[in-house]
Amino acid sequence: MELSKSEFYLVRELHEAGVLQDVKTHLIDQEQGAIIVTCSDGDQFYDIFSQHVAWQAGQRPNNPRVHVLANHGGPFAYAPCSPIHRVRHTDKVLVPQIADARAMKGINTVVLHGHAKCGAANLTNTSIEQCIALQMRAKATIKKLNHGIVVVPFFQVDYGAWKNGEKHSYFFSRPEWEIWACKHGIPSIA
Ligand SMILES: [Zn+2]
Repeated sequence: MELSKSEFYLVRELHEAGVLQDVKTHLIDQEQGAIIVTCSDGDQFYDIFSQHVAWQAGQRPNNPRVHVLANHGGPFAYAPCSPIHRVRHTDKVLVPQIADARAMKGINTVVLHGHAKCGAANLTNTSIEQCIALQMRAKATIKKLNHGIVVVPFFQVDYGAWKNGEKHSYFFSRPEWEIWACKHGIPSIA
């Protein structure tokens, strides 16, 4: 989906504020691969999947291990009370998949790879700021229920016509988000 003008400026502001940062893959432990939680969006999946294959090259040359958990809205649906699937308690179904994937594959790194503009979020009138809040809550929930697991938040932006069709995935910095949100009067994420 195309970003609106205000959404494009919002994303640009988040990047300039350091909330969305360039990904430093060597800082992420992917020796055993990664469990990737992402949206099913067929226009974005190849970009996100191929990014992860490329990012694992330093630690797993020629043998990427990308264990995908995909659904409409991706990590946004893993937050308690998420509106993304229009039914409540999707987290009760989705979050246990993390523990199962961890047990089956022995992978201890989870990447929450949200995106904008997400069609599933749009269907439920969920803004980009709300999506970010949902992704942060999803991270907290997954960590609470899976002792010792590492959860890394990423965010892909499809700039569409705003940047000649460019897609870019960023690391999402919670500390920078808290500063930005405070400045803009957005309540802190529990
Ligand atoms: Zn989506």
